[in-house]
Amino acid sequence: MRTVCVGGGPAGLYYAILARLRRESDDVLVVERNEPGVTFGWSVTFGEDFLDDLHRNDPVSARAIRESALLWGDQVVLVGDARPVHLGGKYGYSIDRTRMLDILARRAEQLGVELRFGTTAGPEPEAEFDADLILASDGVGSRLRAQHVEHFGTTITPGRNRYLWLGTSRSFAAFTFAFERTDAGLVWFYAYPSSDEASTCIVECSPETWAGLGLDTLPPSDGVRMLEGLFARALDGHRLLEPDGGLGADPWLNFREIRNATWRRDNLVLVGDSAHTTHFGIGAGTVLAVQDSIALADAVYGPDLQAGPALQTGLATYDRVRRAELDPIQDMARRNVRFFETIDTQPVEDPVRFAYALLNRRGEAQPGWQYRVHQATQVDGLRQVRRTITNARRTARAVKRRRSELPS
Ligand SMILES: Cc1cc2nc3c(=O)[nH]c(=O)nc-3n(C[C@H](O)[C@H](O)[C@H](O)COP(=O)(O)OP(=O)(O)OC[C@H]3O[C@@H](n4cnc5c(N)ncnc54)[C@H](O)[C@@H]3O)c2cc1C
Repeated sequence: MRTVCVGGGPAGLYYAILARLRRESDDVLVVERNEPGVTFGWSVTFGEDFLDDLHRNDPVSARAIRESALLWGDQVVLVGDARPVHLGGKYGYSIDRTRMLDILARRAEQLGVELRFGTTAGPEPEAEFDADLILASDGVGSRLRAQHVEHFGTTITPGRNRYLWLGTSRSFAAFTFAFERTDAGLVWFYAYPSSDEASTCIVECSPETWAGLGLDTLPPSDGVRMLEGLFARALDGHRLLEPDGGLGADPWLNFREIRNATWRRDNLVLVGDSAHTTHFGIGAGTVLAVQDSIALADAVYGPDLQAGPALQTGLATYDRVRRAELDPIQDMARRNVRFFETIDTQPVEDPVRFAYALLNRRGEAQPGWQYRVHQATQVDGLRQVRRTITNARRTARAVKRRRSELPS
């Protein structure tokens, strides 16, 4: 079977790896418009479950990703000059996007995938490539999807808020939300480590605050310098960093929620951001993109890895099963968006209560005693106990992963 992945992001590269691992005789090509090492954004976060998924499917790239990822052992909410509020029991990992894509590309190459960088596929890959299966792994602005928008039943819902994906020279040890009140309204950032010397820093605010601060008219770099002053406390005097290639003329974006009524058209399938998006406030897009590729490989190759079902049956299963899994996740991500779009109705003047609302922004029901646990988490000694328990659980999962690699 010959497969072409249009787009060498996490979804396309991971599927290419799986296809070669599951059937060595398959021919797999990844077409990526950028040159190697060129991508957008900074680092992305993920959790322990994702490491388990990676490990189950390809321990080699899983190990490399874990070794390159940074662990953050806490989540902190900063509101103006108030005492930091801790969201207890939370930890996760972050990895630089360029590094992650490099790991996946090298692994794909090692397994015999053909990688064609610097090549932009046209909107009709069926005519361009001789392939049994084509993945539209070309991201949120997918041209392949746009070409058949009616068939896919695509809906694109823009969010209200404006955001800018930056870095900072402050090395945050914890995942940090920082909120500053201005005369124009609240402005906030999400920051988490990218490397030992820098962190990712995504700034967000309502369109009214954005215009009120003059960010709509200031040259983008001047806007960044202004934000640096505004967040001087939370950044501890550190700089905000622009991407290597500069900010461009119009760097402020609105999140766009993508949904599709079907993810399949003959032998063309949507995976990752071309199929669905979730707001970065839930930090899940990369994880979901890779999980799509795992679900697709399971459906195409079948559980016995060699004699899978007929291709069309597999694609129909992927479309039905994986799309149904995404619906509740996108609903949850929507509640997260709503929280940030109506943030002025939240109790910001009481940082502990506000942080609790932030913790529950996805709408998962929390029993009343959870608030008391949250209050207790603000006590240093009790937080330390909770952290010790979390660390023990994390270590146990890492040991289990390592044991599963040893010959029995
Ligand atoms: C601000 C922000 C923060 C985020 N933080 C996180 C996070 O913490 N955790 C997380 O899990 N996710 C996060 N995400 C989401 C994550 O970045 C995406 O969900 C993920 O990159 C989707 O992977 P993908 O492979 O589907 O698409 P992409 O990564 O967008 O890859 C698509 C690729 O296709 C290529 N391409 C496009 N068109 C063509 C063409 N015609 N020919 C050839 N190549 C083409 C592009 O160059 C690109 O390399 C964040 C997103 C944003 C915006």
